[in-house]
Parts: sequence; structure tokens; C-alpha cells
Amino acid sequence: MIIHLDMDAFYASVEEREHPELVGLPVVVGGPSKTRGVVAAANYEARKFGVVSAMPMMQASRLCPELQILPVNMPLYVSVSKQIHEIFNRYTPEIEPLSLDEAFLDVSGSIKLFGSAEEIARRIKQEIKDELRLVVSAGIAPNKFVAKIASDFDKPDGFVVVEEDAMQDFLDPLPVKRIWGVGKKTELQLNNYGITTIKDLRNQSVRWLIDRFGKQGDHIYRLAHGLDKREVISDAKAKSISAENTFIENISDKEILIAYLSLLTEQVAARLREKNRKGKTVTVKVRFHDFTTIVRSKTLAESTNQTQQIWLLVKSLFTAAVASNASGRPVVRLLGVGVSGFNNDTTYQGDLFSEGSKHDELDGVADEINQRFGKLKIHRGRNTK
Ligand SMILES: [Mg+2]
Repeated sequence: MIIHLDMDAFYASVEEREHPELVGLPVVVGGPSKTRGVVAAANYEARKFGVVSAMPMMQASRLCPELQILPVNMPLYVSVSKQIHEIFNRYTPEIEPLSLDEAFLDVSGSIKLFGSAEEIARRIKQEIKDELRLVVSAGIAPNKFVAKIASDFDKPDGFVVVEEDAMQDFLDPLPVKRIWGVGKKTELQLNNYGITTIKDLRNQSVRWLIDRFGKQGDHIYRLAHGLDKREVISDAKAKSISAENTFIENISDKEILIAYLSLLTEQVAARLREKNRKGKTVTVKVRFHDFTTIVRSKTLAESTNQTQQIWLLVKSLFTAAVASNASGRPVVRLLGVGVSGFNNDTTYQGDLFSEGSKHDELDGVADEINQRFGKLKIHRGRNTK
């Protein structure tokens, strides 16, 4: 069985825990101000006003004038994420993080020791609540696809178990957009054929779907039947570490895009350091409003996990990606950052006096203080030049 765990309103919940005076108020993390930037996370109080993550801050402030805006404190979230992973690790080493606050756990090998997957998920949920004073939603199912839907099904504080024989009944009434790979465009196409639920989809033959959607037709056919063979790939086996996000509204303000890219870069670099990995290849993904997607990579001579070094590449790759967009003015719906090309040797042999090692030291100190106090005020100023 697979467990998918997803922290509820993660960044915002961590901030509420650190600032008890905010409890009960609509809170978002993001910024830098009421009029600029993007919402990185919104608490449930803010969501009542229609404020959601990946929404421009301007729009969020309009929807909720009394919105409390806190700056993103990535090192703090990274350290809490580490504590969460320590709890996961008590039950299985087979952990695949999707982001700082979300992971798949394969507990097939742990059941003899700890009881059923349901029991393990219950214990993890309780330990996160007791030890970290945070809430996680859990989905337990025979595969990743269904486990992920299940964790989201009853959020916040969700706990949903889908046994093998209940899987189809669980999936059938859900809208087709719940299927991985079914974006707005495919959803519309399916709806035009009168297909709105997973059950409608399941009533089509695989041939019919392939004729209309090509390879993707086969993929959505399988998922509609609850068939997903993907394994949980732990960080130790992963070939890349990445983060990406689709915006609620397309964004064309270059400064906002740069600010968001910097957030993604910080996340990826912090995860690399947490796992003690370094990569040579940096990749930036930009999807424009018309769904054209540009993926650009650059490979360094030496591998790195330094925020600053990765950031310089990310910025230049982003500029190149935007320049190659025909319309000239970028209207962006998705941004992603990834690092790959890991070498197994994690010892660093750089020049002690180079610019690079200074940054290495800086990141190291930030991570360490962080680890020790679980809370950090040091935050690298954004270089948006
Ligand atoms: Mg979450």
C-alpha cells in the first residue's frame, strides 16, 4: 500500500504556529507586498475569501482587504520539512517527496513491523500533531494515483483509506480533471464529448481515446481504471530534484515571475542540501498561456547545491526561454526549476577562496542554525537584477 501525506496549508500553518496572534485571521505567505508578488500559501481562513496559493497578491488583497501577509521564510519551512521526514523515516525509508510538504511513502515492507498501512498513517498523523503541532492529511491506497486523490479528498485534517476493491467506486464519480495529465485543455475536449466524470471516461474504449488523444489516451484510460504501476522513488534513487507550480491566473509581470522563480530555486537548493546531493544540470521550465512549453537546461563544469550558483543559471535560462517565445511579452501559466546530473561523490573539493565556497559556507550556516533551532531569521536577500 502507498500512503500520500500532504501538510495542510503548510507554510501558513507553520507561520501560525510561530505567531499565535495570527490564529483565526486570514493569513498568506508570499509577497513582497500587498500589491506585488504571488501568494505562496494561504490558510483556511483566507481561503474562505477565495484566496488560494499561486494567486497574484494584488488579487488576493482585493478579495480580502484584512489579509495578513507574511514574507516567505523558506529556511524555516525546510527545517520543519526535515522534522516531518524524520517522522516518516521511523516507518519506512521508501519516501518520495514531491515538495517540502508532500510525500509518497511505500510501507509494503513495514507492515509486519508496524501493522497495516492505515495504522502507520494514523501514527504518523498523530506524531506530526503531537510533536510538531501541525496537521497532515493522509490518503492510503494501493497506488500513487489513488493515494494522492485520497489525501486531498477530505482536506483539511483528512484521512481517507481506499482499499483495492473499493477503488473503482471511489474514482467513478470524480471529475476527469482529477486524473494526472488532464489539464484544462484536455478537460474541455473531454467535456465536449460529454465526458465529465471518471466513470464516463471508463465507458470509452481505449481505442476511442487513443484515436482522439494519442498516447495520452492510453494513459488516462489506465488511470480511469485505477491502474498505476509507478513505484515510490526515494530521494536516494531520484535522478533529479525539482519544484514547479501552475499559477491561478496567468502572470506577465516579469518581476513577479522572477520572485516566484527565486522561491522555487530556494526550495530545490535546500532539498539538495538536505539530501547532501549536488547536481550539474539546471533546468527551467516555462509554460506560456497558449500551452507552449519551453524547457531549457545548462550543465555546469562542477556539480553544486548552492542557492546562488543555481539561481544565476535559473535566471539566465528563464531570460532565454522568454526571449524564444514568439509573442515577446511572456504570459506565463507555469514555472518549474530542477537540478539533475548528480554524482555519487558528495565530498566537495572546491577552491576555498573562490566566490563559490563563500556561498557554500553561507548556505551551510543557514541550514545548520536552522536545524538547531528549527527557526531562522536569516534569509538571503533576493537578487532580482
Ligand atoms: Mg500541502
